[in-house]
Amino acid sequence: MSDFSQLPAELQAHKAAGLYRSRRVIESPQGIHLQVNGRSLLNFCSNDYLGLANHPEVVAAFKKAVDDYGVGSGSAHLICGHSRAHHALEEELADFTGRDKVLLFSTGYMANLGVISALVGRGDAVYEDRLNHASLLDGGLSSGARFKRYRHADVAHLDSQLHGPWGRSLIVTDGVFSMDGDFAPLPELAALAKAKKAWLMVDDAHGLGVLGHKGGGLVAHYGLTQQHVPVLMGTLGKGFGTFGAFIAGSETLIETLIQKARSYIFTTALPPAFAEATRASLKRVIADDWRRERLKSLASRFRTGAEQLGLECVQTTVATEASEPLWSAIQPIIIGDSQQTVTISERLLAAGFLVSAIRPPTVPKGSARLRVTLSALHEEQQVDQLLTALEKAMLSLTSASD
Ligand SMILES: *Cc1c(COP(=O)(O)O)cnc(C)c1O
Repeated sequence: MSDFSQLPAELQAHKAAGLYRSRRVIESPQGIHLQVNGRSLLNFCSNDYLGLANHPEVVAAFKKAVDDYGVGSGSAHLICGHSRAHHALEEELADFTGRDKVLLFSTGYMANLGVISALVGRGDAVYEDRLNHASLLDGGLSSGARFKRYRHADVAHLDSQLHGPWGRSLIVTDGVFSMDGDFAPLPELAALAKAKKAWLMVDDAHGLGVLGHKGGGLVAHYGLTQQHVPVLMGTLGKGFGTFGAFIAGSETLIETLIQKARSYIFTTALPPAFAEATRASLKRVIADDWRRERLKSLASRFRTGAEQLGLECVQTTVATEASEPLWSAIQPIIIGDSQQTVTISERLLAAGFLVSAIRPPTVPKGSARLRVTLSALHEEQQVDQLLTALEKAMLSLTSASD
């Protein structure tokens, strides 16, 4: 029999396995340099890819909105918490994504949980890439629909599962995969979904703002419309640098979610100031092509350097030859062993670099990695410094274990 007296021992075992997680206290705004314990560290682990989290226009919009709207939203959207700021942002995001309508959620986790459960349930089926973000997997599992995982980015494997006496079929995938930085084969997935009368849902948390024309994301890169991808999900806490999330799609989809998505209905609306801040950051996302250009060149510089060092980078596969090459702000280095990954990350920290060690269960067992993320605000020289530090951290590791 298990009771709570075993918690300390469980924690101890977690520590011994190199899986223990703890928090770092940040004393500065997000940016290339983070202040931690009075020390300045070079930040290579944030999802603020475009460098907008502390952008003066975004900060000013937030402050002004606090003057206009106060801080709290007061209630859920369906009671009296849906402000003009939220509404305007929804309209602008619909325009940005080329979808009929948008619905704001308080977080991406909640959006994914709410949407999947609103669309499928008992008697239906949900198909997910096995490397999907935890919130998508949790959403699928809690929906009550038959839950199937297909091999990563493997459309043929998905196809082989897509049959049976089930009602609705929902195919769910990350656009840019959060821990690998590679890409879902969206055109093929969309074609398969169409052939099987399934719906395709794409979570483009890491592609929006970063990829595609004007930052429209992976769906924009492939020119996929609302017909191809009926459910598009985006987060605002990453490329947009603010907070919150949204679902974009047809009027019918959005109205369905308003009626049925429990994580929309039963939660307090995002403070309106976040909506106003996001409206300001959306302007920068659309206008600042230089941020994407810069990220692209930094990513390529890092990758070339890492490969020269013989490090194991994740293969970023591009599904169609017809399109522009894809690139990612997420550049993981696979180490494999959790403890070694933590050691390298600690050594980098000692050298002044913040790079996160990603371990199971966030990634599959045996694929622990350093998740290096780049920002449009990094200097080339800083990327070079990281590569030098990485080389050192890994060399001494081999000799230590010999
Ligand atoms: C971060 C993330 C989420 C969750 O979004 P939050 O707004 O942070 O809750 C969902 N999906 C993916 C792919 C993500 O990377």
